[in-house]
Amino acid sequence: MSRSVLLAAARSERLKDVTERVALTRRLVARYVAGASESDVIRVAGDLVGDGFTVSIDRLGEHTRDLGQAMRVADTYVSVLDELHRAELSARVEVSVKLSAIGQAFHGDGDRVALDHARRICHAARNAGTTVTVDMEDHTTTDSTLNILRELRLDFPETGAVLQAYLRRTEGDCRDLAHAGSRVRLCKGAYDEPPSVAFMRKADVDRSYVRCAKILLSGPGYPMLATHDPRLVEITGALASKYHRLQGSYEYQMLYGVRPEEQRRLVRAGEEVRVYVPYGEDWYGYLVRRLAERPANLSLFLRSVASKR
Ligand SMILES: Cc1cc2nc3c(=O)[nH]c(=O)nc-3n(C[C@H](O)[C@H](O)[C@H](O)COP(=O)(O)OP(=O)(O)OC[C@H]3O[C@@H](n4cnc5c(N)ncnc54)[C@H](O)[C@@H]3O)c2cc1C
Repeated sequence: MSRSVLLAAARSERLKDVTERVALTRRLVARYVAGASESDVIRVAGDLVGDGFTVSIDRLGEHTRDLGQAMRVADTYVSVLDELHRAELSARVEVSVKLSAIGQAFHGDGDRVALDHARRICHAARNAGTTVTVDMEDHTTTDSTLNILRELRLDFPETGAVLQAYLRRTEGDCRDLAHAGSRVRLCKGAYDEPPSVAFMRKADVDRSYVRCAKILLSGPGYPMLATHDPRLVEITGALASKYHRLQGSYEYQMLYGVRPEEQRRLVRAGEEVRVYVPYGEDWYGYLVRRLAERPANLSLFLRSVASKR
């Protein structure tokens, strides 16, 4: 099954219904998702901080088409930030936000709705003593997301950006964002994109990642290198030395449940490692994107779904 078929499955309501009823998938979900509730994610974040990690919390859910729902997602973030502050975790734990979950997908004034909610979340993060990173979604939203980020950074310059190495435009975006005080997460990119805008071959995506990492690591900003790819982790380390980056002037980022031993190895080596921890009920699209990256997980998933049909 190709990656693009699998990513199409991430948007299928029928498959979602079947999947949610399968017990075995719950085990897979538990590997990648902290739990359904706020208390679950605070507990997991606390454990990770205790083990020397920093954390970015993601409240699962995207493509909100309902104003009330967008408001509730923003409320949830504000509540999590308050709770992090109370639990004295906010110095080590931030949040990641998908603009499509807070209204960007509305026709007409989606950008304004998302910006208003994002401002509210940034405000709560500032009060709690932490930061927000704005996740990047599919390429049709890149310009809108970067515009909203620019607006947010006028009041909250600490807000993190995300750039995706698979997009042909990203080297240019890295140059624009590689300035002092600018926190930029570089990832490969998780969506099914057309060849007109994205590199299709893994080797080309990896080469783009290295070019972008060079721009970010040689500049004065704060690069956040988000990858599990062993070769890219190694190259990042070599580039950090080449550009005389001290440990802590950049960070590695990895997803909760993905290569946990490698995460611990990097912490033991003195590196800053941030674990991206999703939580919430709406895990389906997230899970299928993770499966698309890891064919070994896919057969387990398909067997579990097939045995229930
Ligand atoms: C902290 C963080 C934040 C991210 N934010 C965004 C975002 O905002 N927007 C976006 O489009 N994408 C985001 N991503 C996802 C990213 O774009 C990639 O889809 C994902 O990280 C897989 O790419 P990779 O660099 O790990 O390399 P890959 O080439 O996919 O993987 C390299 C190796 O890592 C291991 N691995 C990778 N994925 C898995 C898995 N699911 N299970 C087990 N092992 C695995 C395997 O050994 C694999 O061979 C984020 C990723 C991280 C780590």
